[in-house]
Amino acid sequence: MKKAMTISYEVGNNLYLNFTNKCPCNCTFCIRTHADGAYGSDPLWLEHEPSMDEIKADLGKHDLTKYDEIVFCGYGEPTERLDAVTETAGWLREKGCKKLRINTNGLGDLVNGRSIAGELCEALDVISVSLNAGTRDEYMKVTRPRFDNAWEAMQQFTADCVKTGSAEVVMSVVDVIPEEQIEASRKVAEKLGAVLRIRTFDD
Ligand code: SF4
Repeated sequence: MKKAMTISYEVGNNLYLNFTNKCPCNCTFCIRTHADGAYGSDPLWLEHEPSMDEIKADLGKHDLTKYDEIVFCGYGEPTERLDAVTETAGWLREKGCKKLRINTNGLGDLVNGRSIAGELCEALDVISVSLNAGTRDEYMKVTRPRFDNAWEAMQQFTADCVKTGSAEVVMSVVDVIPEEQIEASRKVAEKLGAVLRIRTFDD
């Protein structure tokens, strides 16, 4: 496994941020199991979790206003570093960045031991939750989370985000899952008031 301090990497017109490799899931499809990076990036396994000083120094090298979106994502679950996400988001706002998104597995409440929807939705424009499957059994089978109540907590988090009314809330599935799982996913997203986004596998 190659390691580096790849705190940010470009994908198309977006800038992706990588603050942690921690994650409470072990998804069967996780890119981390078969590559050291994504979209041609340098290795995304971090030598250590970057400090705020390191994050600001790295981001300071970019023209931050040129990106369509800045995305908290990376090789891990970004809400494992909730404080770094919200502080960086505030800093990026001051720099005039257009749109801020987080790609999350939706388990940040369990990771942080409290409801985080309010602070996350205040800090960001788009909350994108990986739904991955339309039923509890299938979800638990593919994401293999360390929390037994992950399916329920992920939905509660999504509903709480929708309730804030201050961010766009999207749930995503990948188009390789069976059609009936996509339909079931659509129903889950609808029930929670979120928009379902069907991604292609390499999107
Ligand atoms: S939630 Fe994301 S980082 Fe975590 S195991 Fe699943 S795909 Fe990998």
